Amino acid sequence: MRTVVFEAVGKLALVERPEPEIGPKDVLVKAAAVGMCGTDIHVFDGEFEGTIYPLVPGHEATGEVVKVGEAVKGLAPGDHVAVNPSTTCGECEYCLNGQANLCSAWNGLGVVASDGACQELFAAPATNAYKLKPETDLFQAALIEPLGCAIRGYDLLPRRMGQHYLIYGSGTMGLIMAQLAPRAGAVSVTIVDTNPERLKTARELGFDLAFESADDAPATGWDIVIDCTGTIAAIEDGLKRVKAGGTFQNFGVAPAEAFADYSPFRIYRGEVTINGSMAVHNSFGRAVDMFEAGALNPGPMISNSFTLEDYSKALDMFRSGQGRKLQIRPNDTESKVFVS
Ligand SMILES: [Zn+2]
Ligand SMILES: [Zn+2]
Repeated sequence: MRTVVFEAVGKLALVERPEPEIGPKDVLVKAAAVGMCGTDIHVFDGEFEGTIYPLVPGHEATGEVVKVGEAVKGLAPGDHVAVNPSTTCGECEYCLNGQANLCSAWNGLGVVASDGACQELFAAPATNAYKLKPETDLFQAALIEPLGCAIRGYDLLPRRMGQHYLIYGSGTMGLIMAQLAPRAGAVSVTIVDTNPERLKTARELGFDLAFESADDAPATGWDIVIDCTGTIAAIEDGLKRVKAGGTFQNFGVAPAEAFADYSPFRIYRGEVTINGSMAVHNSFGRAVDMFEAGALNPGPMISNSFTLEDYSKALDMFRSGQGRKLQIRPNDTESKVFVS
């Protein structure tokens, strides 16, 4: 079985491995599509706290169940699933307080200590595998994992009718946050990205208020500002543009050692709320439901798919900032371009 492995920091290999063994409560999944995101780059570069190498990458995955452990209920070979990569200890202070995404031993398949989905077959706890309708596009459904993160973000926002949203970043996360905004009460959604190529996708998805700088937007203040870039310049810019009474959300992943400047007086005088949102939290099942209900328009969002052999090409393309959502399709025999 062909497997992509991060053997050590910055060291990539394609190796032959035996089929993964599964425990009584696990399922074995034939991988269909695996989204690539900034987290994979952080893991490859050794910038994600806690990663243990060697590790098979891939945490935004879908596939078809081929085998179930003897204690598994509700799933059978042939079922299509989307897999929540997060696993938690169930025993720490946070898990016991219903805050499992903050678990001190938080583990993500393909991110920390368990192998991910960039292999022909991958194992996952059955409770992490969510059954999809047979008619759901199994490749596009790899957007369910980032959608689950976005829903967690919205759980932490005020969600009032008639609010004006400003979103930094027109990549996958920014575009998902933007598509959910009207459902949360947004009356307008402005998207900012310094890369004009990425703004094209926003416009294709119907967001006409798409600019290289918030200075170019007709509005001057926003109720909700969401950073989906993790870039300090964007965060500092966004914090200045929140209206009094508004909320700023750190959704994007900034480097762990980075700091941003803001005016504490403005936060005080304007009663501005700043919050953070970390991964999926009780939101994966809702992401499946919303995806299947058509909450996203996935067509314009996915630009390329790569075979396991071409994994390094996907990494290079991601780093160059080209393309839209890039996917690995571990059982495909050729890489494909959907949007160029
Ligand atoms: Zn991701
Ligand atoms: Zn825990």
